Amino acid sequence: MNDVGPDPRSVELERRLGRATAKALATVGVRTVAELLRHFPRRYAEPGRFTLLDGLRLGEHVTVLARVDRTTVRPTRSGGHIVNAVITDGRHELVLTFFTPGGGRGKGLARFFEQRFAPGKVGLFTGTVNRYRGEMQLTHPDAKFFGEDLDDGVSVLDEAARPIPIYPAGAKISSWKIQTAIETILGSTRDEELVEPLPEDVRERHGLLGIGEALRAVHQPMTFDEVEAAQRRFRFEEAFVLQTALVRRRAIAEDWVATPREPHETGLRAAFDARLPFELTAGQRVVGQEIAADLVRTRPMQRLLQGEVGSGKTVVALRAMTQVVDAGGQAALLAPTEVLAAQHARSLEALLGPLAHAGELDAPERATRVVLLTGSQGSAARREALAQVADGTAGIVVGTHALLSESVEFADLGLVVVDEQHRFGVEQRDALRERSERVPHLLVMTATPIPRTVAMTVFGDLAISTLSELPAGRSEVDTHVVPASKEAWVERTWERVAQAARDGGRAYVVCARISGDTPEDDAAPDDDGELAFASPRPPLRAVEDVAAELRAMPRLAGVEVETLHGKMSAADKARAMARFASGEAPVLVATTVVEVGVDVPEATLMVVLDADRFGISQLHQLRGRIGRGTLPGTCLLVSHAPPDTPAAARLEALARTRDGFELAEVDLELRREGDVLGAAQSGARSSLRLLRVTRDVEILTKAREEAERVVAAGAALAEFPDLRRAVAELSPEHEQYLERT
Ligand code: ADP
Ligand code: MG
Repeated sequence: MNDVGPDPRSVELERRLGRATAKALATVGVRTVAELLRHFPRRYAEPGRFTLLDGLRLGEHVTVLARVDRTTVRPTRSGGHIVNAVITDGRHELVLTFFTPGGGRGKGLARFFEQRFAPGKVGLFTGTVNRYRGEMQLTHPDAKFFGEDLDDGVSVLDEAARPIPIYPAGAKISSWKIQTAIETILGSTRDEELVEPLPEDVRERHGLLGIGEALRAVHQPMTFDEVEAAQRRFRFEEAFVLQTALVRRRAIAEDWVATPREPHETGLRAAFDARLPFELTAGQRVVGQEIAADLVRTRPMQRLLQGEVGSGKTVVALRAMTQVVDAGGQAALLAPTEVLAAQHARSLEALLGPLAHAGELDAPERATRVVLLTGSQGSAARREALAQVADGTAGIVVGTHALLSESVEFADLGLVVVDEQHRFGVEQRDALRERSERVPHLLVMTATPIPRTVAMTVFGDLAISTLSELPAGRSEVDTHVVPASKEAWVERTWERVAQAARDGGRAYVVCARISGDTPEDDAAPDDDGELAFASPRPPLRAVEDVAAELRAMPRLAGVEVETLHGKMSAADKARAMARFASGEAPVLVATTVVEVGVDVPEATLMVVLDADRFGISQLHQLRGRIGRGTLPGTCLLVSHAPPDTPAAARLEALARTRDGFELAEVDLELRREGDVLGAAQSGARSSLRLLRVTRDVEILTKAREEAERVVAAGAALAEFPDLRRAVAELSPEHEQYLERT
């Protein structure tokens, strides 16, 4: 016995296909029969299109229909042989070449090729066109001969017109070998043995092929219509399994128990509403009612609130928090960073005014306390904060996500509000469940508008509320693209910065990096790894360098320039933000840490250097930092992107519109699918294989409806063992978690 045993998962594959084939298949990631059957063709070659031998191009992967005209064998200097078979379509010829090694085995192999490629035989030849001594040829092509490899029962013409599956293959295993392996398995498997995640009535309602039929159609199609029908089925299946997982997750959460938090007519909430200096927008009112209704249920709210930057989500969240405080509970607000947590705490206190002063002289009867709890607090301050959280004095607790993972004791945590959903994953949501018998209500907020299908795919387990309008009187923000190559334009940009400082405004200067000698750091944009430039571009500008440059500029003499980035200590960050906010340092050179939440109403100008390196949503977020006060804002995107590149298209879209949903759609079109989901996905869920959220809107919608129906019949999916299995395979850890609850 070998000391390294065989992969236990591939035992079945080995038994049915042999050790060598199973091993070769493992090199392309296929270890089980199920994985093999779901190793779908990457594409299909159309034999009809490739039969013309005069249209061949170097490097092209082709399949030609031809007859062998003549075959020669000649020895090589190294003792092996070269077999040449000349094939013809009647007008043009092409050489097929096979090399064999020296020795007896090589000789046998040469004879084998000579016989297999004997003159007169007709077949399909597949390979990549290469050139040898000026002549096109195929080296070691795959061949399928009529009457030998191709089924005699089918007419040769039909056979020749069949789409030829081309599989994702590797150095150890060709597409042709994979095809043969799948044929072997399919030929010896009965339909009843196959896992069928799609219930029969679902298939009937949507005219979908059964699993056996679909597998045969995708692997051994007679026509392209069959391929399409099979692909539709598998896409639907993927959408359906995914949606079932999400709907099921939500259904299971429905069994969780929460404390209902009834509104109080003369409580904090009413007092807060009375002191609001503005009217709520219609959207804020509607969403407010949705949330208020969720909070009085005995099941925990699981809601996503999405709304443009500045659409007033904080007010909506605060109203929900006051409802919970009125009912005797506490609310926690989680921010992605300590800077943002501190800022949130300040703005909640400002919005509440004396209503946040419980225990102080000026406090009205219904007041509460807002408490900030962060890791960087001094131990005395932290001890006091912890005590107020534990005894319930603090109605509203603000911190980072660490609030939930640390052993912070709440008197009665009733609501968790999470700012910026993208950084709050499935696991964190699950952690809430594990805190206590009573699960707090959950409201997650995102300022990144998400196209409907993406929302359904990624956040399908949450109810969704949307704030689509901005409060009236919001200032305009003009956006312009500044080509980095035009020096005069860039100069003018710095003049604008100086102007803003002179006028009592504030200017952000955003850079992709912190310092010149950190080539990759956490401030680098994460969603555009691929650059569309053929020529090298200048290095990215860095916060420290740019700040030094600005400080040395005569036109900025006397203007204080601050910096802000992720490597600074929390205290330094807070100090820099405070100096910027107060106007002491009206210019802030920063990384994308200013992306989320930072609120300085006097900021009217934003310059983004290397803007072509940022994604649409990131720039949209950044831009949301200006135009928050009464003065109109200007956003200048300094770009190295050549025209007609995706990066240029992104910036043009930003200059054209401020509508986040429109930008999200543009983004979806310009970016690769995986990026869209990757950026939006928070859990470990595997990405989509066949589905495209841009293309398959209808499938996703229908699959969602069917998933709701199936889960309504019982979240345990007892009647659908195959579906249950498919759901469990989708995200194993997550499912284990659900089983435990
Ligand atoms: P978001 O969190 O959605 O980016 P905020 O809640 O921070 O937006 O609101 C942005 C600004 O708009 C805040 O200064 C807030 O006080 C103000 N605001 C919120 N709702 C309204 C409204 N209905 N009318 C006028 N101003 C509003
Ligand atoms: Mg906000």
